[in-house]
Parts: sequence; structure tokens; C-alpha cells
Amino acid sequence: MTIRDTTAYRHAIIQKKIINLDSGDGRHVMCSWDTCESDGFELYKIRVNTAAPGAEPRHMNYVFCSERHKQYWLNNVRPGSNNNLPPGYRGHL
Ligand SMILES: [Zn+2]
Repeated sequence: MTIRDTTAYRHAIIQKKIINLDSGDGRHVMCSWDTCESDGFELYKIRVNTAAPGAEPRHMNYVFCSERHKQYWLNNVRPGSNNNLPPGYRGHL
């Protein structure tokens, strides 16, 4: 049972799972990282403009289970990167 005003209680609020409203059955949205099947959290959501340069903006939301998977994803989509975490994140998460 969660006790009010503890760190665990506050984290439980922040780490709200994403529910796919379109599915209609309250299903959770999975982490966007390739090999991960955990549920995504609101806390690790990012919004990306996927439209071509100069075109109408088209925004996509991506959710992740952890800051680590968010960083993996962000660094994976950047051209020239080699699927590595940025220096500040190595060994920290
Ligand atoms: Zn994940």
C-alpha cells in the first residue's frame, strides 16, 4: 500500500502510465524503444515533428518506460549516431 507524502507516493503520481484513448479499452501504450515491451510513462513523453522541412507540421508523440530508453531513442534517430547514450548518461541510468 502506498503511503501519502512519501517519495514513492509522489513518484507513483508522476509515473502515470499512458493509456491509448483511441483503442477504447484502456490499454497501456508500450515503450517506443525497439526491443522494450514495458509500458510507457507520461513523464518520458516526447513530441516530434515528422513532416518534411517546409511542410505543414505533423506531430507524433512517443512515450518511453524510462529516461534511458528515451535517450537511446533520441540518439538513435539522430543521423550519424551509433546507438550510444550521450556521454553524460553513460552508466547513470
Ligand atoms: Zn523501455
